[in-house]
Amino acid sequence: MKVVVCGCGVLGSQISWQVALSGFEVNVYEIDEKALGRCKDFHTRYSNLFRTKKPFEKLFYYANREKCLKDIDLVIESIPEDLRLKRDFLSKVSKIVSEDIIITTNSSTFRPSDLKGYIDNPSRFLALHFANPIWEANIAEIMGHSETDIGIFNKVVEFARDIGMEPIKIYKEQAGYVLNSMLIPWLESAQRLYFSGVANFEDIDKAWIISTKSKIGPFGVIDLVGLRTIYNIVLNRAKETNNKEMFKRAKKIKEEFLDKGKLGVETGEGFYKYPNPNYEKYMK
Ligand code: NAD
Repeated sequence: MKVVVCGCGVLGSQISWQVALSGFEVNVYEIDEKALGRCKDFHTRYSNLFRTKKPFEKLFYYANREKCLKDIDLVIESIPEDLRLKRDFLSKVSKIVSEDIIITTNSSTFRPSDLKGYIDNPSRFLALHFANPIWEANIAEIMGHSETDIGIFNKVVEFARDIGMEPIKIYKEQAGYVLNSMLIPWLESAQRLYFSGVANFEDIDKAWIISTKSKIGPFGVIDLVGLRTIYNIVLNRAKETNNKEMFKRAKKIKEEFLDKGKLGVETGEGFYKYPNPNYEKYMK
């Protein structure tokens, strides 16, 4: 099985590393040369963390889409959470690769049926959704749409196991899968409390960490997910519901975080500063 990971940001860089670490050849495709460079830096960091350089023998980096999609068996799309971008990208990919190549999306908030109409032969299309960071939260949620071929679904379940993930099989299409159906409302409640001025973010996290004996609270999770993804989620929701408060919040996140390069753990600062974020002191 030869894999291509498209988009090598927060998740794509982890997925590509994990797939190569598990012994599969991986092509990494990225539209932005700078991001490709950052991904290579991440991989060097992971190689120190995992104390192995072996995956580098399996990793190939491309800024050219056509070349990257040659002679592969499985596509893992992990580009930004933007519906138009994903539809456009998947449509192009499905025209380049042959009809039997499996195409998956790592989308956190869109369902396969939101995307399937843009894919030639949608029966080979489904979601393979990772959590972050994929080594600590090593689940992979597998979810098809009504026309996904069951054999392909099972193949992807097997692949998830082969790369060290615990597959979570989802039998009925569900926006947010299993994990995010629980996680997103939790993050949303925390953001509403903070952005409407009810409490500061440290106290919100403190309340959660101490009372539920957790290692991390909602704002620690937001930093881990990355402020860019949170921004996209808030903006998408604002557009869907035409909610003024959410548009205001998206603007605030853009100005106070994105524009200042505070993207979360990835850049060393989001709500907290890294390493050793302040919330660690509340863990018992
Ligand atoms: P990110 O913004 O960190 O990375 C996306 C990358 O895709 C960027 O490097 C960008 O340059 C690149 N890109 C943009 N357009 C492209 C194109 N046309 N072709 C190739 N590359 C392109 O985003 P992320 O956090 O890694 O999220 C990616 C996907 O994974 C999203 O669908 C998100 O919902 C999902 N996801 C994210 C998390 C998380 O915690 N961040 C967890 C699970 C799933």
